[in-house]
Amino acid sequence: MRKFLYEMLETASVSGNEINLQKVVIKYMKSVSDKIITDHAGDVICVINPEANFKVLLAAHSDEIGLTIVEILNDGRALLKEVGSIKAGVYPGQKVRVITDKGEVFGVVGFDQFTFKSEITDKNLILDIGVYSKDEAEKIITIGDSVILDSNYRELNDNIISARALDDKIGVYSIMEVLKKSKDINKEIGVYCASTVGEETTKAGATFVSNLVKPNCAIIIDVTHDSSIMLNKGNREFTMNGKGPVLSIGTVINKEFVKKAQKAAKNKNVSLQVSTEVYRTYTDLDKIYFNESGIPSLLISIPLRYMHSSAELVDMNDVNDIISLITEIIELLKTDRNFNPFELL
Ligand SMILES: [Zn+2]
Repeated sequence: MRKFLYEMLETASVSGNEINLQKVVIKYMKSVSDKIITDHAGDVICVINPEANFKVLLAAHSDEIGLTIVEILNDGRALLKEVGSIKAGVYPGQKVRVITDKGEVFGVVGFDQFTFKSEITDKNLILDIGVYSKDEAEKIITIGDSVILDSNYRELNDNIISARALDDKIGVYSIMEVLKKSKDINKEIGVYCASTVGEETTKAGATFVSNLVKPNCAIIIDVTHDSSIMLNKGNREFTMNGKGPVLSIGTVINKEFVKKAQKAAKNKNVSLQVSTEVYRTYTDLDKIYFNESGIPSLLISIPLRYMHSSAELVDMNDVNDIISLITEIIELLKTDRNFNPFELL
């Protein structure tokens, strides 16, 4: 099923423009879902057992960071603005894809001898699509078009995949694999797998999906930094590619849910890494958790190297582990649905 993942990785989905990606999700998930819910913003929720009273929401975001065209210059080149938190330094000298209403066109992000002399921001990024005048450019591109790095996915070996926007298409892939594995789950559990929009910018999708589904509990799947490669000595928490899913604990994470995840990991022989979150998680969880009186939530992340570049790396062993871990958590929810610590006293 890597075909599904690879098709997602090839599809552009800059925050706010996720529809093409969501169509890929629908294409691959239509036959396995009992129901697919969509909304005005572009969210896609694949469901099994929609009649069930108990609902577990699995959420991962479909959008990726990128650039947008803000001005077309007289010489035919164009100025760009970031969409989401980009690392501007990775763009100069790279090939890019421009997503226009009429289809995709190719370009490069140019530079001159001064570009690398100071810190690079999105204001230093200039798109060059190979024309020499504003008139020519305007026939091809428009203000507001999305721009992404033009880089293919690569298998570095059997386990390691390199690509742009594994953040968080690898999460969407994971939850959809869980949905397939949970197909025959007890009819009492409704599994809602949401491919959300806008996480990198507004987290609008997570807000809407949480309100739409009103789940009894939620598991958010995103990527997190492999912090073992950071040379910064101030780094005191270590997570690493290839060492298993990263389970978050902290103020916005339900403690009883954490215990269930730990039990599931033990059952499936999955080794977990731990991350602590104090104020917020900077993921969709920050919106899903705060719905009305609160949704007991869990954040499980896939470790990833070189986030927000054309060369993000994930280890498929971690991905397979997260799929079997979440499938087992859903299995445990058949008999243990308590999230309130007072009920255990
Ligand atoms: Zn993400």
